[in-house]
Amino acid sequence: MSQTKPNILLIYTGGTIGMVKDIKTGALHAFNFKNLIKQIPELQLLDCNIETVSFENPIDSSNMNPENWVQIAEIIEANYNKFDGFVVLHGSDTMSYTASALSFMLENLAKPVVFTGSQLPIGDLRTDAKENLITSIQIASLQEHNSSVIKEVCLYFEYKLYRGNRTTKINAEHFQAFNSLNYPCLVESGVHLKVNHQYVLKPKADKPLNVHKILDNNIALVKLFPGITESFLRSALNTKNLKAVILETYGSGNCTTGNWFLEILKKTISKGIAIINVTQCVGGSVNMGQYETSNGLLKIGVISGKDMTTESAITKLMYLLGKSYSGKLLKMKFETPLRGEMS
Ligand code: ASP
Repeated sequence: MSQTKPNILLIYTGGTIGMVKDIKTGALHAFNFKNLIKQIPELQLLDCNIETVSFENPIDSSNMNPENWVQIAEIIEANYNKFDGFVVLHGSDTMSYTASALSFMLENLAKPVVFTGSQLPIGDLRTDAKENLITSIQIASLQEHNSSVIKEVCLYFEYKLYRGNRTTKINAEHFQAFNSLNYPCLVESGVHLKVNHQYVLKPKADKPLNVHKILDNNIALVKLFPGITESFLRSALNTKNLKAVILETYGSGNCTTGNWFLEILKKTISKGIAIINVTQCVGGSVNMGQYETSNGLLKIGVISGKDMTTESAITKLMYLLGKSYSGKLLKMKFETPLRGEMS
């Protein structure tokens, strides 16, 4: 390999992007990543060396789980010193969850990990896959003063690079499938790549990569809706081995002031089960105490998810519970930004 060109590792996990259409039958089948350069000759024009590695059995991202996140983290860990950047090809459905999880798992990351995918398969005439893939590789290759420009886990889709743990999939039809309403994009792709340097994470140099692989998924996600019943809430919060619950509340963190509701939550907290408040809104922040309808939550010790996405809150919780944090320490850690996931 050349000494001067950046080395990029392309990790294929599955998803629409890696499919090609059989011209005769019209059926979609998984793409052989060993033949990547043959399929996308444009990649030869990029100013970097590309190597590829694929999941043995590529998956639709709806089948992603924490074990697969560990698998991705281990590929990055094993290849960290050999490569300057990583591009992870992943189905779009759960890409925000995986990108959020990896952001917590890869502590002291000082190289780019760019997640991307596409709405249409790479072999489709109108595909968005080529642009997403090529620009992701270019972004992962960006260097300044012999160091990567991007040093965090991010997600590239339809001309924008976002911080991964700030994203949510917002559309199953449009090419712009993701958004990041609470944090500006890191790079915009137009005629030139415009890096918004002021928003990019600047990790402390010289700390070695620390990969965290223990994730505890004894958690629950409860979305409030007008008419939610006492019996449903009670049974959800009585789940065996439950350690923490994410409550998706209304607006700036509001919920019903009904006595039954707060009583159930209070009892849950008294059993040592943490409750975290995130908003159902895609933008804005939880602000407990702003309204009477959130004051009760504040008083009983509910943890604030502030302006975190649900995807980020879920994965941060698995990561922190994996470290066996509980009580006040869990609250303190959860309410502290660890990887730029909250403002
Ligand atoms: N269901 C697919 C997946 O998430 C959709 C996609 O690739 O965008 O794997």
